[in-house]
Amino acid sequence: MAESVRFRRVLLKVSGEALLGDQPFGIDEKVIDRIAGEVGQAVDLGVEVGLVVGGGNIFRGMTIAKAGGNRVAGDHMGMLATVMNAIGMHEALERRGISSRVFSAVPMPTICETFSQQRAERALKRSKVVLFAGGTGNPFFTTDSGAALRAAEMGCEALFKGTNVDGIYSADPRKDPNAVRFDTISHAEVLARGLQVMDTAAVALARDNGIPLVVFSIQEPNAFVDILRGQGRATIVAD
Ligand code: UDP
Repeated sequence: MAESVRFRRVLLKVSGEALLGDQPFGIDEKVIDRIAGEVGQAVDLGVEVGLVVGGGNIFRGMTIAKAGGNRVAGDHMGMLATVMNAIGMHEALERRGISSRVFSAVPMPTICETFSQQRAERALKRSKVVLFAGGTGNPFFTTDSGAALRAAEMGCEALFKGTNVDGIYSADPRKDPNAVRFDTISHAEVLARGLQVMDTAAVALARDNGIPLVVFSIQEPNAFVDILRGQGRATIVAD
């Protein structure tokens, strides 16, 4: 009999920075391979997994904007960076024999498929990992918002946000020794306190669609799978 799991369909958001490992730029193959393996374990548990990888390890539009450049052009470059990471993750999954497909919000048909909710739905139902690349396809958004949007469109039961810490704190625990960790918190309180967990648009979209957020450390090996099994350490954001 299949092992019982907490959620049957989830969206996992991994920031581009999580792929850096010890490098200042790009993708650490060891890290992407480990994450791919954990996603594969989730699939083996019978969980349908959508995956959004950010682009911050390669490019962010704000970097150009802060230097006085064109934000829209910068965001276009950032969205392309997310496609690069999605292709890297697709390769890492395929190397392990985990079947996956890349759907980009920005059409680039010679490289990957263009996002279609119906085709993504069919792929998820067939236990394929679905990689959502290109964020929302629009500038002035982030991949957090892209992840919340796809989680809503695909009817995901939870949006997992893999960060560098094991949950949400009242302040940055690396800077403030008095920071308090939350086991649970509501979307409204995350927004009211301005907690830096995901961008505001993403948290609001998750709240409006009743999607719980599961904030955990992607640096902690097996945390993703442990949480799916009802163990592991995370902050659950739910109303
Ligand atoms: N981006 C965008 N629209 C989107 C998603 C992403 O313009 O819907 C651009 C934006 O410039 C962003 C970059 O892509 O900074 C990389 O995404 P993000 O910063 O969310 O990556 P992460 O911080 O998760 O690595």
